[in-house]
Amino acid sequence: MTGAITEEYLTRAAVFPLDPSPAQERLLRSYCGAARFAHNWALGQVKDNLATRSDERAAGLSEEALTASLSWSAYSLNRVWNAAKEEAAPWWPEVSMHAFRSGVVAAAAGLENFRSSKKGTRKGRPVGFPRFKSRDRSKPAVTFTEINHQGSWFEDSDVLAGRVSPNGHRIRLMLPQSTPDRDVQRRRANLAWIHTTESTRRLVKKVADGTASIQKVTISYVGGRWQASVLVRYLVQPVIQSVVRPRAPGQAGPDTAIGVDAGITHLATLSRPVPGLTDDHGHIANPRVLEKQLDRLAKVDRRLARCQKGSKNRAKVKRRRARLHGTITKTRSLELHRVSNALTNQFDVIAIEDLNVAGMANAKRHLGRALADVSLAELRRQLTYKSPDRGTTLVVVDRFYPSTKTCSSCGAVRAKLPLAVRVFECSICGMSLDRDINAAINIEAESRRLLKAKRQSLHQATSPQDVAGLRPETENADSRTEKTGVPTGTAALAACRAEPRSHATVVV
Ligand SMILES: [Zn+2]
Repeated sequence: MTGAITEEYLTRAAVFPLDPSPAQERLLRSYCGAARFAHNWALGQVKDNLATRSDERAAGLSEEALTASLSWSAYSLNRVWNAAKEEAAPWWPEVSMHAFRSGVVAAAAGLENFRSSKKGTRKGRPVGFPRFKSRDRSKPAVTFTEINHQGSWFEDSDVLAGRVSPNGHRIRLMLPQSTPDRDVQRRRANLAWIHTTESTRRLVKKVADGTASIQKVTISYVGGRWQASVLVRYLVQPVIQSVVRPRAPGQAGPDTAIGVDAGITHLATLSRPVPGLTDDHGHIANPRVLEKQLDRLAKVDRRLARCQKGSKNRAKVKRRRARLHGTITKTRSLELHRVSNALTNQFDVIAIEDLNVAGMANAKRHLGRALADVSLAELRRQLTYKSPDRGTTLVVVDRFYPSTKTCSSCGAVRAKLPLAVRVFECSICGMSLDRDINAAINIEAESRRLLKAKRQSLHQATSPQDVAGLRPETENADSRTEKTGVPTGTAALAACRAEPRSHATVVV
């Protein structure tokens, strides 16, 4: 038997920021446009097919006499596209065929999500029928899947044959199919490699020695910059070793648990101070770089508000704002990696609050609150994939649990606590405590209660259904942990109890 990890493979995304030349950027934009075109085209075919069949049904035709239904699989939609592309997009030779396939596959995935959601076989929120992507509102992205040789994502055949030393800072850009025009061929050949601002060496080494394989590469325009997200399947060597974790003196329970409240004034607040990670109260401060960026963002926002609608200047300020948002997200994410590493290494149980998904959709939210949501989502994403690897149980406390409004000392619940009020003062027992620390303590206490209830129900082994409120991460919650087969929830909990802790190498 192995520990918490029973699968041999883990799927992770490695993201490399790109620095394309202007010509490469033009080509990338045309690829993304082509992907969007193919996505909308495939969706249009499916919609037309559905409409035709329903019209025919309404006209009284029998089921056999109806127009044949169109299969929603990526494979068959691709075939339909290939048969029609000459007519639908006579310009198709200008872009790589991968771009069209990327769009068709995305449409098929959207249709499948809709179908499985409707059938009730998909976890999470209900998914509607996929919508057409518009130029303005969709994220430019294109996915490349097939390639002859894994190494050729990063190096050309000469390097692979050992004739030239590897570069380590580039990733392949698939070019359009060959053309008889020699000049065009030569110009295009110059575009074949996009410079990456970070080295790909670590990944290339793993691919070369066979411990990692690349599933697909998605190039997208995020936060004002281009990036390549490489989906990698890692071979996990199950190194079984027990994790020795420090125990607080006089600690009652068998587990060390910690409650985490992600915020904006502080990066996060823990239910108790952790040496080396928090200050004396339990706060993890925002890094100074981030403070500066937040100041800058506020300034850019004010400038944007003063700009004439539809003006060139406004577009310029908007671009700067997008880039700044990207930088902030990245800085915060790097810092959160430090936090999530420390937490998963030191604690058996980590409790966080569920996301306010409905609130996040509201665009008019306060900037600070919106950023706090983003950082909570990122922290949760990191903890979700790191926890199982390190034998840690992640407990997500229901967002209807009033963590901020409850007194962590006596349990009294206040009617409301406006965001501006930074100190929780209890009128029943007189306790006075920082608002975030109070919330973090409550989150930890709630997770203990949920785990206890869960364990009891596991013990009795009578009711397999989930304890209300305890909702371990589902596979739908994070696409990056999909298909990894890492036990979650009940299975992880059972594995944690029964087995020595396994410590797997985690590649971030
Ligand atoms: Zn109280």
